[in-house]
Amino acid sequence: MECIFCKIIAGEIPAVKVLDEDLVLAFMDINPSSQGHMLVVPKKHTENIFEISDGDLAAITSAVRRCAKAAKEALKAEGVTILQLNGRASDQIVPHLHVHIMPRWENDGLSVSQWEMKPGNMEEIKDIARKVQEHLS
Ligand code: AMP
Ligand code: ZN
Repeated sequence: MECIFCKIIAGEIPAVKVLDEDLVLAFMDINPSSQGHMLVVPKKHTENIFEISDGDLAAITSAVRRCAKAAKEALKAEGVTILQLNGRASDQIVPHLHVHIMPRWENDGLSVSQWEMKPGNMEEIKDIARKVQEHLS
């Protein structure tokens, strides 16, 4: 087994666990972007949002909300950023689905959720929305 998060789930390498349930594990990120940065993962190896089953996704979503609430309360956070990456092009490094929970404070300097607010071309925006709608299932 090559996957580092599968190794954590199997207990083969250590992690600071926060929540351990049938389908889901939450543990602290060892390179925290903010105080309290943690990861929530499905126990069944799944690479990304496109592969995960609806049942596992529901379990992850529930755990993410509970962990985010607990972290917010415990650390008196003023906000919480929730981030999940799919594929190398989106900067996903570990190919085992994980949701980042990052407690946030006003002016904490974390730039993960900031981008330039430059108005787009409305014709192009509408055209893209139409194309996406054709692929909705
Ligand atoms: P990404 O795939 O870009 O969403 O990032 C992977 C995340 O996993 C990074 O934030 C790493 O710090 C974190 N990470 C990698 N290895 C471990 C580990 N052994 N224990 C906890 N967190 C880890
Ligand atoms: Zn895995």
